Amino acid sequence: MRYYCLLLVLSIFSACQSVPTESENASTGMALANVSDSFQKNATSEERTPPVVAFDSTITDAYLMGQFDPSKDKRFVKVAAKYAKRDGLLLRKETHEAFVEMAEAAAQEGIQFYILSATRNFSRQKGIWEAKWSGTRKVDGQDLSKTIPDPTQRAQKILQWSSMPGSSRHHWGTDLDINAFNNEYFEKGKGLAEYNWLVENAARFGFCQPYSPKGAERPHGYNEEKWHWSYLPLSLPLTQQVKLRLQNKMIKGFKGAESADLINIVDHYVLGINEECK
Ligand SMILES: [Zn+2]
Repeated sequence: MRYYCLLLVLSIFSACQSVPTESENASTGMALANVSDSFQKNATSEERTPPVVAFDSTITDAYLMGQFDPSKDKRFVKVAAKYAKRDGLLLRKETHEAFVEMAEAAAQEGIQFYILSATRNFSRQKGIWEAKWSGTRKVDGQDLSKTIPDPTQRAQKILQWSSMPGSSRHHWGTDLDINAFNNEYFEKGKGLAEYNWLVENAARFGFCQPYSPKGAERPHGYNEEKWHWSYLPLSLPLTQQVKLRLQNKMIKGFKGAESADLINIVDHYVLGINEECK
């Protein structure tokens, strides 16, 4: 299912371009998505051509690249203790409301969801990235500063599981990691039941799995992550602004940033997601 903006009605068009303000809630976003969806179903093939996305001044470059402090941003809330694996997890208010609604619906069917990781801003991601870059944090048991001297190859190795600072969907407060950081967990027993529930139901609550299996449909980007889900009513307009505005050369300010352009970090990683999530 694709979510396209309506071009026919100016007011709806402009709503589609903006990150909902605090006064708007998750259901506002969902209503918009449903309108877009029904428009698509009734559209002729010509009308289904990609939408023209306009520059949205309510979304800053700094926001897209996580260069802000979510703990001081009123659009963010703390994840309720009941659903948080650890203290201090933050999400956009609308994402949190939709997750709680989803988790409560799942609980009715005996499925428990909790959040392992939520918003990580640029400086937090820089800490993770540089620890791996410099070898203070091992990757697959290796000190990459010793085993992979070539900067582009080293960055590609880190990118198997971690984003470059400035390029993570976790910057936005729209994306979260659920229950376990490994695909194997979700492939048998309890984890498989949880994943199957998400595949069947997450879209009803606005969630999509951006890192679907790699292959012909998704040739570039991170490996599959069955635990990572994105709240589309907020993340879709952000993805659209990335497509319009973010350039490789803007991804900088950390060790190894010089390889962002060679790797084509924006097209291959930030936009290298499941087609159903864009
Ligand atoms: Zn994640």
